[in-house]
Amino acid sequence: MLTESINELRWNPLIGSWIIVSSKREKRPWRKGLCPFCPGRPETGEGWDVIVLDNKFPALKVDAVVSTTSRDIYKVKEGYGYCKVVVETTEHEGDLDSIPFKNLIKYLEVLTDETRKICKDKKIKYVFPFRNKGKEIGVSLTHPHSQIYALSFIPPRIRVELKNMKKYYEEYGECLLGKIIDIEKGEKKRVLYENEEYIAFLPFYAMWPYEVHIYPKKHYSSLIDLNDSSRRFLADVIKIIVAGYNSLFSFSLPYIMVFHQKPCRGDFDFFHFHIEFYPVHRDENKMKFPAGIERGAWTFTYDGLPEERALELRKALFRASKRMKKNGYKPLGVFY
Ligand SMILES: [Zn+2]
Ligand SMILES: [Zn+2]
Ligand SMILES: [Zn+2]
Repeated sequence: MLTESINELRWNPLIGSWIIVSSKREKRPWRKGLCPFCPGRPETGEGWDVIVLDNKFPALKVDAVVSTTSRDIYKVKEGYGYCKVVVETTEHEGDLDSIPFKNLIKYLEVLTDETRKICKDKKIKYVFPFRNKGKEIGVSLTHPHSQIYALSFIPPRIRVELKNMKKYYEEYGECLLGKIIDIEKGEKKRVLYENEEYIAFLPFYAMWPYEVHIYPKKHYSSLIDLNDSSRRFLADVIKIIVAGYNSLFSFSLPYIMVFHQKPCRGDFDFFHFHIEFYPVHRDENKMKFPAGIERGAWTFTYDGLPEERALELRKALFRASKRMKKNGYKPLGVFY
């Protein structure tokens, strides 16, 4: 029997990537029915508006213990890293469109500070902030929060994006995402919202039905490159997109939100920082469940046309904008 928790990386030789393996000694860390993120709890205390906590039962640890050793092509490494939780408000319910705007800005500052701080650890190669929302995605805690995983390796999705951005830069002498922004602005069919610094659109190459990407119009490589003003514009576009999502159907829309930034160190300045959203619904009552073709072949099927779904999102954003104006929020940019 295992007497302590195990945190290790196992190499999958078929895919060529690390799997994070963790076994936890205790099951549920929190007392039933009591939110661990509300103010005044042992985890949170008082006197904060946005707070970073250590994940109590993390998948990665700085003092990771492994269950076995490497042999032959079966490689094992310590599951070294950090798993953190960012609680975005003291309010128990809500989403990024309903928390105070100053919290949203602070949230981005916190992610930036954590990226900067964690990257100082030479064993960390990549900082990955993300947000899972909704029980459909397996999130039982409704208190608004995000997570940060700090990894000792560059994850596969990022390796692929790095490779393609580098290749495009070497072939054409310009930035791939800059090129995509030009095309989207030219075609205007999938753009949803734009402010001085950012553009949000449903990509031509979307994999999930209501996928939305947010790209900075200036070439920033990571959160660390943003200044106060660009964080304010980023908070604005995030608020607008999430408000649009929550106006799409008759319920608050579950989604996954990820931050893609360059690795902690190395020559990766060609990487263009961005945010991607992957909601799991394909219409009001149906979810897009990744099945045989998606899971077994890593080939996505898209039901409908991205241009049609972009129109639906535009209508939802219009409804959201009216509600936001009533609540006293003045968007910093323009709707399409
Ligand atoms: Zn709570
Ligand atoms: Zn760029
Ligand atoms: Zn990306």
